[in-house]
Amino acid sequence: MISSTKFKIKKFFHKISSTTKIIMLVFLHLLLISINAYYLHDFIKITEVDAQIINESGIIRGTIQKVVKSETNNKQSDDNIKIVDNLLSRYSDSQILTHGHTNFIDGIKQVRDGWERIKKLIFEYRLSQDPVIKNKLIIESEICWRHANHTVGVAQINAERKHKLFSKIYLVLSIDFALIISIILIIYSIFKLKLEEQARIDPLTQIYNRHVFYEEIDIEMSSSSRHHYPLSILLIDIDFFKRVNDTYGHDMGDIILLEFASLIKSHIRKEDILCRFGGEEFVIISPFIDGIQAQEFAEKLRVAIQNFDFNPAGNITASIGVSTQNSNDTFKSLFKRVDEAVYISKDKGRNTVTYK
Ligand code: GH3
Ligand code: MG
Ligand code: MG
Repeated sequence: MISSTKFKIKKFFHKISSTTKIIMLVFLHLLLISINAYYLHDFIKITEVDAQIINESGIIRGTIQKVVKSETNNKQSDDNIKIVDNLLSRYSDSQILTHGHTNFIDGIKQVRDGWERIKKLIFEYRLSQDPVIKNKLIIESEICWRHANHTVGVAQINAERKHKLFSKIYLVLSIDFALIISIILIIYSIFKLKLEEQARIDPLTQIYNRHVFYEEIDIEMSSSSRHHYPLSILLIDIDFFKRVNDTYGHDMGDIILLEFASLIKSHIRKEDILCRFGGEEFVIISPFIDGIQAQEFAEKLRVAIQNFDFNPAGNITASIGVSTQNSNDTFKSLFKRVDEAVYISKDKGRNTVTYK
């Protein structure tokens, strides 16, 4: 089940184009950036609030101690009482506290209750100077100190949640990094493929160059011998092309060569391989057709070329040589025959097909 899903995903990724893959990955990258921005925003908010809470709960703890100490020494400490009141009231409307601060809110509630009892005892003690009340005050202040101290600890623990957020941010960053590397690799493979393809294409006629011909003829000859099917080859040389250049200029000659290549391209089958052999010479590797079929094909091409209007040169012709691989053939022997066939066509007066 899992492996079939894996296979389906693999197949899906093979099917989609590189551009679609890049677009998908860029979208994913943007999504990860947004997730991280959200985490970072949360992180900054928590950092600010936590720092304030740790600081203020520390002040509450210390000030309560100071108040009790001076009151038990018969020194009134109204300013510090106000400070504690103010700080505690800040946490009664828990606006500055986020969802993660519940422990702290509970702790501060206990401190506030203890503080209310301490204040009550302070005012009672101020009036009565009763040592029993003083004693109660000291005990209460110790309990309250413990609560306050606990609150500081809770605030610190809460602050440590930042580490968890940090590891989330690191995780998202790592995934994003892998994503960016994938994007770079895909772009690199596209460029590499494009460069490799460019090295195989003749820049003027946009068909395969001589280099590809040498590669492909080798592959096709071995394959046809191995699988016992015929393989023919056609060599086409434009007649009097020098004259075309001389009459209409080299640039126009280039345009006519491009048109010539397109014309041949429109007449070949999917399995034929058309290459520019050089200058005004073209070669077609035609698998699966024997000598007779290859001659028919060449004749069809010859007529198509002859009837085509290569504006402004009008009608031009080509001499074609045709050969079919025999069992003893090497590339050299096959190509020698087809080259000789072209020469024979030229000798016969050009615009001719010769089979050799
Ligand atoms: P033939 O019928 O005997 O083949 O005559 P030809 O004039 O075609 O043959 P030749 O080999 O004497 O001349 C080939 C010409 O093809 C000469 C050269 O200027 C032209 N040629 C070769 N490559 C290019 C090219 O890339 N662009 C242009 N415009 N002309 C080219
Ligand atoms: Mg030539
Ligand atoms: Mg020529």
